[in-house]
Amino acid sequence: MSEFDLIRDYFQWSNPPSSVGLGVGDDAAILRVPAGCDLAVSVDTFNAGIHFPPETPPHAVGYKALAVNLSDLAAMGAEPAWFTLAVSLPEANREWIAEFVRGIQELAQQHGIFLVGGDTTRGALSITIQVMGFVRGQALLRSGARHGDLVCVSGTLGDAAAGLAIVQQRLVMLTEAATHCIGRLNYPTSRNALVEILRGHAHACMDVSDGLLADLGHILKASGVGAKLYHQAVPLSAALLQLPLEQRLLFALTGGDDYELLFTLTPESFGQVKEAAAQRGILLTAIGEIDENLTDLRLDYELLNQKRGYDHFSAN
Ligand code: ADP
Ligand code: MG
Repeated sequence: MSEFDLIRDYFQWSNPPSSVGLGVGDDAAILRVPAGCDLAVSVDTFNAGIHFPPETPPHAVGYKALAVNLSDLAAMGAEPAWFTLAVSLPEANREWIAEFVRGIQELAQQHGIFLVGGDTTRGALSITIQVMGFVRGQALLRSGARHGDLVCVSGTLGDAAAGLAIVQQRLVMLTEAATHCIGRLNYPTSRNALVEILRGHAHACMDVSDGLLADLGHILKASGVGAKLYHQAVPLSAALLQLPLEQRLLFALTGGDDYELLFTLTPESFGQVKEAAAQRGILLTAIGEIDENLTDLRLDYELLNQKRGYDHFSAN
C-alpha cells in the first residue's frame, strides 16, 4: 500500500464546507476566511511514549490529538474551521489507521472542523495537528485578568492525571472511578461550547493542559496581577473524591491534561454565564479571585508534594 493509497482512503474527506476552495490533493490547500474574521492557528505534536502511552487505543489517539487542539481554539475564543494532519507511522497498518481516523472523524464532525491537508511519512509514531479557527470580534487572551475578577474553571479537575496514574500503575481505584478517570485522560472534552457564552464576559482565558497552578500562573503573569485560590472550591469528580485530600488536590492542582477552560470575569457576569453554561450541561465553578495587591498565586492550602516553582503558596 502506497502513501497515496493511504491519503485517498483515509485523509481525503468528502463534503468540504464552502470555506474550502481546495482541500487534500494538491500541493497546498486554498482556504477562505469569512470577511471580518481573524484566523487563529495552533499546532500540537503527540509522540508515542511521551505524550501518550504506546498502547493507547488508536481511536483514542486520534480523538485526543484533535480534542486538545480544539481546546486551544476554545481557549482563544475561536470557532473551529479547518485542520491539517501530519502523521509519522512505523508501518502502514490499515487496522490501526482506520481506527485512528475514525477517532478523529467522530470529533471533527461534532465540531464542524474539516481536514484540509497534511503529510504522511514513515517513522516513529507521531501525530501533529494544526487547527485553524475563526475569531469573530475579540479573541480571548491570557492577558486580560483584572482586579476583583473571579477565577473560574469549567468541569472538574484532576481526573486525567488520576487516569494517567492508573494507566501507569501508580494508582489503584475502584473500577467505575478508574474507568471515569481513564476516559477523561483518553477522551478529553474540549469546551468549544463555552466560546459563545464567554464572549463579552471573560477577561482572560486559557485551557488547563499543564495543571491548574501552572496555567493560572500563566494568566497572572500575562495580566500582571496575583490571585487567591480556595482549595475547597476546586471542582472534583465523584471519582476523585474517593482519594485522600492531599492526593486528590495534587491531581487537581498540578495534574495536566484536563482541557477544561480557566477564565476570569467580574462577579456580576458570573451568575449569567454559569446559568448559560449549565443549560448546555457544563459546570462552571469560581475557585478564586484576582488580586492586584498580590504578586503571585496564593493558595489556602500547603501541598506537601508541590511542584518546584511554586514556593510562594502560603497557608493563609
Ligand atoms: P507534497 O508532495 O506536495 O508534500 P504529499 O504527497 O505529501 O504532497 O500530499 C499529497 C496531498 O495529500 C496534499 O494535498 C497533502 O496535503 C495531502 N495529505 C498528505 N498526507 C495527509 C494527511 N495525513 N492528512 C491529510 N492530508 C494529507
Ligand atoms: Mg508532503
